[in-house]
Amino acid sequence: MLRIGITGGIGSGKTTVAKIFEVLGVPVYYSDDAAKRLMNEDDALQQKLIENFGATIFENKQLNRSLLASIVFNDPEKLSLLNSIVHPVTIADAEKWMKGFSNNDSKETPYAIKEAALIFESGAQKKLDYVIGVNAPYKLRLQRAMQRDHLSKEEVEARIAKQMDETKKMNLCNFIITNDEDQLLIPQVVELHKKLIQLTIDN
Ligand code: ATP
Repeated sequence: MLRIGITGGIGSGKTTVAKIFEVLGVPVYYSDDAAKRLMNEDDALQQKLIENFGATIFENKQLNRSLLASIVFNDPEKLSLLNSIVHPVTIADAEKWMKGFSNNDSKETPYAIKEAALIFESGAQKKLDYVIGVNAPYKLRLQRAMQRDHLSKEEVEARIAKQMDETKKMNLCNFIITNDEDQLLIPQVVELHKKLIQLTIDN
């Protein structure tokens, strides 16, 4: 079974693309959701977070996400500390999740997908066979993220500025899906799905 990553910057549409793959029957691991779940369920992870960010970030073992976000938001060192604590746990959890499919019939599960904003930044690509990049024009990403998260242009711009350069990220990907206003998304996903199934046969 092939292990595939899907990545892209804020508002690029990686979750939307992942959902189309799910409709085609491909299992998808959503890293953001998994990280949230792990922070509420994994005792060792909770302990590390408490040691580094204080006990107040948890209330009845449930993470106060807005408090943690406010601690790391304007502090790049704290954000990178948080990522260095959470990413290895999520990467290991995704690997375990992927392994759960490896005994399946390869016709049943030719490949599984991990969707994550930070794949190259966290070294997660080492545990993946191929990475798909979702590429959308800057203006459209801005517009989509502003609309979805009810944020100002400046707020989204500040978030984008903190991420890896999009061209650099797309150059690291094996496949690109273009999510602009000209090219239809579903046919591109179906085409890539066929290509990935062919790759599992060739492997
Ligand atoms: P983030 O990293 O910020 O979570 P993302 O890359 O996962 O973003 P999505 O959540 O998939 O992006 O898309 C951002 C917003 O844009 C969503 O509200 C989604 O519904 C919308 N969107 C994405 N692609 C399209 C499209 N092709 N047409 C219309 N709306 C779209």
